[in-house]
Amino acid sequence: MANRRKLAAGNWKMNGTAAALSEVQALLAAHPAPGCDVLLCPPATLVHRMAEAAKGGALSVGGQDCHAATSGAHTGDIAADMLADAGASHVITGHSERRTDHGETDEMVRAKTQAAHDAGLIAVVCIGETLDQREAGETLAICAAQLTGSLPDTASAANTVVAYEPVWAIGTGKVPTLDQIGEVHGFLRAELEKRFGDNGTSMRLLYGGSVKAANAAEIFAVPDVDGALVGGASLKAADFSGIISALEKA
Ligand code: PEP
Repeated sequence: MANRRKLAAGNWKMNGTAAALSEVQALLAAHPAPGCDVLLCPPATLVHRMAEAAKGGALSVGGQDCHAATSGAHTGDIAADMLADAGASHVITGHSERRTDHGETDEMVRAKTQAAHDAGLIAVVCIGETLDQREAGETLAICAAQLTGSLPDTASAANTVVAYEPVWAIGTGKVPTLDQIGEVHGFLRAELEKRFGDNGTSMRLLYGGSVKAANAAEIFAVPDVDGALVGGASLKAADFSGIISALEKA
């Protein structure tokens, strides 16, 4: 069994201005030496300030998306290298909201993930089925195809985290059963090992979708769940702190 360090990752989505940085101070005060990795991905406007605020503390900062190119005529986009320059160590790629709002395909996610690796960032690569796909019995096939298509060959346990996020569970308060989470995570682990060998054994697999302090402990007890990617419940230090505490005990 691989010794995978657990990760509590927060995705602030399009929420937060400078005033929200007080949540970072509160989080650092509550967890000066957490027993798991802690990551927050604020909007791009806050990456630098959050990285400054977290300096010396046990909190990593990440972007929510990056462009596949290193520079050029891409108005409004941000290169992975720019995120690194701003103080990010991670970047989320392939979040379902990017796939839906911006038509991102597996091929695009793979190129972005490659760009993240090239910039020295750890990519948190998101995959997951829609409700229609689950009800049609396609969950494992969809997850397998997204996993294969979204990960470049450079993926390793050091530079990649995979987040399984059923689209229907994101921001809805609906959570798969523990058996359903276990089925997908076990399947994804096997897929990762088939392709990446020992790196597949050591790569962290997060669950994401309506994780809260109240349901975190039972989700973290599911085999092959190495932490969570958390949206709404990562915005307030008090809420995210409860999830971190549950992960520390898992
Ligand atoms: C997410 O944005 O990745 C997410 C899982 O959101 P929520 O926790 O709000 O469902």
